[in-house]
Amino acid sequence: MTRVLAVTNQKGGVGKTTSAVNLAASLVALGQRVLLVDMDPQGNATMGSGIDKRVAGDTVYPLLLGTAYWESVVKASPGGYDLLPANRQLAGAELDLIELPRREHRLADVLARRRADYDFVLIDCPPSLSLLTINGLCAADAMLIPMQCEYFALEGLSDLVDTLRRIRQNLNPDIGIEGILRTMFDARSTLSRQVAEQLAAHFPGKVFETVIPRSIRLAEAPSHGCAVLHYDRQSTGSRAYLALAAELVSRHAPAGGAGTSKAAA
Ligand code: ATP
Ligand code: MG
Repeated sequence: MTRVLAVTNQKGGVGKTTSAVNLAASLVALGQRVLLVDMDPQGNATMGSGIDKRVAGDTVYPLLLGTAYWESVVKASPGGYDLLPANRQLAGAELDLIELPRREHRLADVLARRRADYDFVLIDCPPSLSLLTINGLCAADAMLIPMQCEYFALEGLSDLVDTLRRIRQNLNPDIGIEGILRTMFDARSTLSRQVAEQLAAHFPGKVFETVIPRSIRLAEAPSHGCAVLHYDRQSTGSRAYLALAAELVSRHAPAGGAGTSKAAA
């Protein structure tokens, strides 16, 4: 069964894109078939996947509008997963989509025809509750929520719960929380540990066991156009995202369920 996950948090700079790219590559390493959808006009997931957003050709933007074919948009990334790229053109989608029927469900409609080709679809959402994010949330089975364990992270929690409630009420009644992912974690910091405890208290059973440590290698990898796994496999960041991928696979493809997938890279 395909699992579609929106990597989302309205707060900026919490590790959404880093998590989307590194999780995509790590899932591929575990033999999963993966599609990564870049829904952010910043195009960071596109660049971080080794696809130049300036010359990517058709992006997810005309796909949402219905003016491009899937085959002309989807790119095979060097990391072994498929990518629907984005660049700043996508910022225009916000206005164009308003006029269109099913404006919140355009991505869901596109993916409905293709999701069966993948084990996991990851959607990298922008840091706002824009129509692009709403398209991501309407297309997803669940939210994967990166959170930096710092004081202001907790402020964002109520926004997040409110968003989930509104999306469920009005647009996608079945969406759940896949998990909250603690990112840029510093085990030596008391504050990090306190925030982690509060997250667990607010969302019992919804915090991933895997913690993503602060790692300079994770910050460096995008400038090499690849996931950290292909840049420094032994780094703490690489091992953490592999562990997260294993946590997801054991949930959704148990008992060696990579049966339908490509062999591990
Ligand atoms: P935006 O809201 O702008 O889309 P984002 O939530 O996608 O941001 P990222 O772009 O993934 O966040 O990360 C923000 C910055 O933090 C980047 O420079 C990234 O390289 C760095 N970063 C992310 N995770 C880690 C980590 N675990 N250790 C060190 N640096 C990290
Ligand atoms: Mg991002």
